[in-house]
Amino acid sequence: MSRSAHPAGPRHADVLTDGHYSAPAADLNVLDEKVWSRTVTRDADGALTVGGIAVARLAEEFGTPAYFLDESDFRARCRAWSEAFGPDADVFYAGKAFLSRAIVRWLKEEGLNLDVCSGGELTTALDAGMPAERIAFHGNNKTAAEIERAVEAGVGRIVLDSFQEIVRVAHIARSHGVRQRVQIRVTVGVEAHTHEFIATAHEDQKFGIALADGQAAEAVRRALGLDSLELIGIHSHIGSQIFDMAGFEVSARRVVQLLAEVRDEHGVELPEIDLGGGLGIAYTSDDDPREPHEIAKALSDIVTRECESAGLRTPRISVEPGRAIVGPTAFTLYEVGTIKPLEGLRTYVSVDGGMSDNIRTALYDAEYSVALVSRTSDAEPMLVRVVGKHCESGDIVVKDAFLPADLAPGDLIAVPATGAYCRSMASNYNHALRPPVVAVRDGEARVIVRRETEEDLLRLDVG
Ligand SMILES: *Cc1c(COP(=O)(O)O)cnc(C)c1O
Repeated sequence: MSRSAHPAGPRHADVLTDGHYSAPAADLNVLDEKVWSRTVTRDADGALTVGGIAVARLAEEFGTPAYFLDESDFRARCRAWSEAFGPDADVFYAGKAFLSRAIVRWLKEEGLNLDVCSGGELTTALDAGMPAERIAFHGNNKTAAEIERAVEAGVGRIVLDSFQEIVRVAHIARSHGVRQRVQIRVTVGVEAHTHEFIATAHEDQKFGIALADGQAAEAVRRALGLDSLELIGIHSHIGSQIFDMAGFEVSARRVVQLLAEVRDEHGVELPEIDLGGGLGIAYTSDDDPREPHEIAKALSDIVTRECESAGLRTPRISVEPGRAIVGPTAFTLYEVGTIKPLEGLRTYVSVDGGMSDNIRTALYDAEYSVALVSRTSDAEPMLVRVVGKHCESGDIVVKDAFLPADLAPGDLIAVPATGAYCRSMASNYNHALRPPVVAVRDGEARVIVRRETEEDLLRLDVG
């Protein structure tokens, strides 16, 4: 599934001929600021602190495993994205990365818009006071009930994902007597992941309407023919954890080409294009994400150039970063349990969570970093695999990493960059209790999503 640019095996290390890995290049006590949230540092005693609070205190007060979210970093990233794109573009935070009512309030205060893709996300957004006109509703199989709620609430846009949905949304909007603003999601034949993109044959997936064979043009024709729909633009989302702007370049070119065809056929210049999300973050020291202002400039240059050559007015651009905003702002704190050295292989370090709080390693072969955070250590580095406590050998949190050889049960270790797609994809596998999300800011820590309890589990199990 993921096409990693890295070969299997640890980073910062050379593979030795006897199958052992050499020591890591970096000092294990040094926290690489690329992968940790902005207020993370080590205090005089060597313990990690976030928002001015030491992890030992956080572990004592909130328990482990737990996600600690750096609120000022989250807000700073929101502002960076919104300032980078400026007043002539819109930034939609992709709620599926991680959504809670506190997050919605922060987004609202920082001036961002919000993408939702289910009734549950829509309810959370509205309940926390996000104005409906700042919400975009996505999904390849929205139910009629979800569409009704979105239309009734007055969401700013519904992103149409199929021919059937064009008719369905039009019908529901008409029965509510409204003209619903919509975009059409197209598949541009580009799929991008990490450092590469592939520009052919990726129409074979469930999202959107293909540009190829004139399908998207036909969708535009139908949407323009329905009075209860106001077609405001074209949407494209090409992948995830993308570093290379080349995929966006091809995508933007193809979307602009469609806008030109629409103008030629209908005499209409659609006013917006949405280039989706998928911008990459640093999970390990080897990842080099771009800053929002570089991304904004690159995207706006591409769109402006393509529109000039097609003789179109430059449309309003929107983007939908999820991971790039929330991903780097949180880490997961675990307590070390069983430590099992396997002679000639590696040491298995078990923690008190696992695939129930981070499925990405098992699902996507994702790479993560890890550090001993309750103290520093001068011990030799040892090659470890950080695993969870679930009944599943694929229950891996960090596949290959180094931790100090004097690691002991009871130590606290932390996995950075777990703000996106960890709590939001968490499960109750083995009846695990999903961990809390604790927001930390200026010396104060506050639970924004509480830890699940056994009572929560039993309440759903009605016997
Ligand atoms: C998942 C998704 C996003 C966000 O992706 P990130 O990798 O979190 O930036 C944005 N738009 C759409 C349509 C998506 O499906």
